[in-house]
Amino acid sequence: LTNDQLDRWDRENFFHPSTHLAQHARGESPNRIVRTASGVYIEDRDGNRLLDAFAGLYCVNVGYGRPEIAEAIADQARELAYYHAYVGHGTEASITLAKMVLDRAPKTMSKVYFGLGGSDANETNIKLIWYYNNILGRPEKKKIISRWRGYHGSGLMTGSLTGLAAFHNKFDLPLSQVIHTEAPYYYRRPDKAMSEAEFTRHCVAELEALIAREGADTIAAFIGEPVLGTGGIVPPPEGYWPAIQAVLDRHDILLVADEVVTGFGRLGTMMGSDHYGMRPDLITIAKGLTSAYAPLSGSIVGEKMWAVLERGTDENGPIGHGWTYSAHPIGAAAGVANLKLIDSLGLVENAGTVGAYLNARMQDALGGHPHVGEVRGEGMLCAVELVRDRDTTTFFDASEKTAPRVVAEMLKSGVIARAMPQGDIIGFAPPLCLTREEADIVVDKTVAAVKAVLG
Ligand code: PLP
Repeated sequence: LTNDQLDRWDRENFFHPSTHLAQHARGESPNRIVRTASGVYIEDRDGNRLLDAFAGLYCVNVGYGRPEIAEAIADQARELAYYHAYVGHGTEASITLAKMVLDRAPKTMSKVYFGLGGSDANETNIKLIWYYNNILGRPEKKKIISRWRGYHGSGLMTGSLTGLAAFHNKFDLPLSQVIHTEAPYYYRRPDKAMSEAEFTRHCVAELEALIAREGADTIAAFIGEPVLGTGGIVPPPEGYWPAIQAVLDRHDILLVADEVVTGFGRLGTMMGSDHYGMRPDLITIAKGLTSAYAPLSGSIVGEKMWAVLERGTDENGPIGHGWTYSAHPIGAAAGVANLKLIDSLGLVENAGTVGAYLNARMQDALGGHPHVGEVRGEGMLCAVELVRDRDTTTFFDASEKTAPRVVAEMLKSGVIARAMPQGDIIGFAPPLCLTREEADIVVDKTVAAVKAVLG
């Protein structure tokens, strides 16, 4: 097939996610047909080789083209491409992976359920939370608190949890059981005079006020990403998670740590919960679980919930929850090979050291630029927030598309970064195998693109 033919069929037939549908159909948005990839580079059918500083959608943790994972997938497909995991069935791959995941999770976690992607794993979590409270005889304890700028998926419940307007508008979301609280976004704090610790106290006070308004006996859980991801790559302010955790404990509200991005090394620790001393009751995993070599997600259930869920099935029979593809053997085989590689290549450590190098270099190179409000990050996550005015932190007008223009400029020089969906934020989440030399390329091309667009 020629590129022209693929391009025509694409526009005629293919409904892409998160795409300006009308522009795409009119041929106004460029269509890149990705052909292959290796290490941190992808290659398209026009022969362009691009350094992917966003690891796909922050998911290809081990980097592209790893033969160990490809072979594990091929072996599994030859031996047993599929069997379901219902009522007492398992495969060697899924059982092995469950053990490997629990070995890497906080000690208080008890069991893992496997799904396909981060959105369905969060749907599972909310169902488990409701099931748990129903078994405990308190069905009115149902509401879920999420944060503005949180991202938890784009289904009906998970799109509701997501705290970004584009995922609500025109979809009649959020659902009534979901309520949102302040984003822990220190750079955009309500009062510039606040220290980080004061801003943490402000976030806690906002949460307390919300709980008081709604009634603790109506609130089941709080969900949050250790580091806000799609909402702008925002690490929490000092002391945030322990302070939030104390409020939740006091009101008997469960904590869901959405580790779809932070799980399996991205922050320089195996799990983001470890990094910030969170004590979650549920952990959502996806992306880095297989480094996206095959779709697989997981809901890791803590021992407190597990004891109740088990008792519930004694009283009510089998749990009415499951997908045809739960614990799919090919995804599980990819997961086992992927987690082995993360260990053998020392990628958690590399994410910590090269991530710190990337962040420090980005800070040095752009921290003083008149249109860079903040450079921030943690581990192998980094963000550059662009502003019209540094003193007032005023945004550029959305119609100017400032971050998308910088990202487009970077693409011309061979580096992929992401214009985050809300605000002029350029996001970086490279594969965890990034080297210092590759980090230098990312920084140099970012600086050149910022200068080309903003002077
Ligand atoms: N949770 C977080 C923190 C995410 O970043 C994402 C996706 O980016 C999801 C959930 C949803 O995962 P998926 O796109 O696999 O459904």
